[in-house]
Amino acid sequence: MKSNSIQEALAHDLKEQEEKHLRRSLRRIDSPQGREMVWEGKRYLNFSSNDYLGLANHPELVQSARQGAEEFGAGSGASRLISGSLKIHHELEEQLAAFKMTGAALTFSSGYSAAIGVLTSLLRPRDVVILDKKVHACVVDGARLSGAKIRVFRHNHLEQLERQLRWACEKTAANRGRILVVTESVFSMDGDLALLEEMAALKEQYGAWLMVDEAHGTGILGRQGRGLADHLGLAGRIEIQMGTLGKAIGSSGGYICGDKVLINWLINSARSFIFSTAPVPSASAAAIKGLELLQGNMGETKRQKLFNGMANLCRELERYGWKVPRPKAAILPIVLGSEESTLHAARKLQSRGLFVPAIRYPTVPRGEARLRLSLTAEHTEEDCARLVEAILELEASNGRVR
Ligand SMILES: *Cc1c(COP(=O)(O)O)cnc(C)c1O
Repeated sequence: MKSNSIQEALAHDLKEQEEKHLRRSLRRIDSPQGREMVWEGKRYLNFSSNDYLGLANHPELVQSARQGAEEFGAGSGASRLISGSLKIHHELEEQLAAFKMTGAALTFSSGYSAAIGVLTSLLRPRDVVILDKKVHACVVDGARLSGAKIRVFRHNHLEQLERQLRWACEKTAANRGRILVVTESVFSMDGDLALLEEMAALKEQYGAWLMVDEAHGTGILGRQGRGLADHLGLAGRIEIQMGTLGKAIGSSGGYICGDKVLINWLINSARSFIFSTAPVPSASAAAIKGLELLQGNMGETKRQKLFNGMANLCRELERYGWKVPRPKAAILPIVLGSEESTLHAARKLQSRGLFVPAIRYPTVPRGEARLRLSLTAEHTEEDCARLVEAILELEASNGRVR
């Protein structure tokens, strides 16, 4: 008889992952998020965080979270459409709409569920969704779940995008189907920027809509950290601005900003919004404070520090002959290729007290494994010097990390 043991079946699959150097496991961190972290009793410099402005453990956000819980409780008690739509959620949404200068905003319990919600509620099987090859998994999953026809263009490849748009126009001409183009603004694993101006012009030429995931741009780029769309003066031409409250903003949750009609439609049809308990009050309260701080003088100072740090880090690496991309935001990939050598490199850095994550398939394509460095405003010049030194040593020890 065929064995039906779940343990056996999954142990087999895990072993396969292990053999391909793709197995993952959780690290139990015993400290708050910050430039340093404590893992298994040892202190590491943390070059893996998306807490780019150092707000996640900022005393004012912690205090705001505490107040949110005191005023509205630890839990929200129900979904937004039942009785969970608390004042604090509405206040956050008003702030977000003002920040992104859109008619309205809607928050979700995560960026992941925001993407799923908006894509499944806007797209139907007769529609076409066109994705940059490198968009985040949440966009891919939302696109798949929507049942729309999916087309992909090579990263930032405008001619391919235009070809897909032309195809989509033909496909949808007869059935009045919609066409949606989706990109990230700052790409999460490469740190480069979307060609948003050109994409906006193309989507207008072909009558498509544009959705931009600003997970890594919000708080970092644009006036007062409004994002790349603002930096390029395009905010008014992008139908759907999406992001997370869990990165530079320092809290947790996701959002969609856009026209009032879009937001009303989402309230009425985004299943990941409708069928989910409202975010906890403390998270919304912390996000309100995070938004306030990042728009103020402190935000400006932190962004300046972050950009100086990135420039300094790249300059140092270049000084030693490394070819690194011009930093556009706070992410710097060092692509090593093989999964095994990337894991090896990450472990080497760990032994020097530096935590830099090894990013592997399926987060990036097979054979494009990389160390993904992210910097925060809290890192010092000495921190970066330690990192550069360790990377150089890494190279010396095995000759060909590059
Ligand atoms: C982190 C991330 C998300 C998801 O946001 P969460 O709030 O963490 O669920 C979406 N898109 C991109 C590009 C991200 O990096």
